[in-house]
Amino acid sequence: MRRVIIDTDTAGDDTIALLTAIHHFKVEGVTITGGNVAFDQEVENALYTIQVANPEEKIPVYKGYERPLLATGQEQHRTVEDVHGEDGMGGAHFPKAVQRPEEGHAVDFIIEKVKEYPGEINLLAIAPLTNIAMAIQKDPSIIKDIPHIYIMGGTNNTLGNITPSAEYNFYVDPEAARLVLHSGIPITMVGWDMCIDYSIMDDNDHAEIADLQTAGAQFFIDINRVVMQFNKTVHRLNGTTHPDTLLVAIAADESLMTESHDYYVDIEIKGELTRGYSLVDINNRLKKKPNVRVCEAVDRDRFKKNLFEVLEAIK
Ligand code: CA
Repeated sequence: MRRVIIDTDTAGDDTIALLTAIHHFKVEGVTITGGNVAFDQEVENALYTIQVANPEEKIPVYKGYERPLLATGQEQHRTVEDVHGEDGMGGAHFPKAVQRPEEGHAVDFIIEKVKEYPGEINLLAIAPLTNIAMAIQKDPSIIKDIPHIYIMGGTNNTLGNITPSAEYNFYVDPEAARLVLHSGIPITMVGWDMCIDYSIMDDNDHAEIADLQTAGAQFFIDINRVVMQFNKTVHRLNGTTHPDTLLVAIAADESLMTESHDYYVDIEIKGELTRGYSLVDINNRLKKKPNVRVCEAVDRDRFKKNLFEVLEAIK
């Protein structure tokens, strides 16, 4: 099995992405970045999700940075309990997992693992890019040894989710996103636009999932309770959104991605109205070398099949 580290701000769809990663990859570890909800809650959510997956081998969880470090004047970042519920788990308030987080720092763990298996560890990034950016800054020698980073973040010149111009992960830590995108590591970006076009699960899909009658399916239903309502009222979307799961599914099977192109992508870090905006230079107007493979279309039926396979496997 291919080795990955998954970096997550575990709440909502992060959990299903984590289950998907455990299903398809050898997950060397889970690293937590500040994002969706209170940091310690994210840690608990990751530990509980691993317990739900019940993997044969222990998957360690490492705490990383609780907030962005590279921006000046930002003491706190905006969490989104309104999207995922107060606990980030759809208000399910699951009991505490038995496993506890490891002692070391996420950034040191990333550096150590990449050095232990040079050229083998792909990174699955489904959170603000703080931890990954700081790992690259702390030890730039890992850059050549990371084969690929799959990033859920940004949009391809279209509507954001946290602001009209920005997607949440890039908005929370645009300086980190910029650093990672320009690191030279091969990158695939799956944006919020792909999530809206191809990942939405509506009431009928949820009914089909409930019919699977597995522990995985029940977990999916539980953690999606709040976001279903939020999406209908705020985003005017008829269903739940699965950006992180889509990203991991694509990393596991790139043929799900039916269209993609290499573009020059940069992140707005100043913008009065556009901080965190991801500029995708589709027509190469800036005449710069492409640095990101941008996902532009997905086989929605196969993605759904993949999701069902993961939920069905967790008895
Ligand atoms: Ca996430």
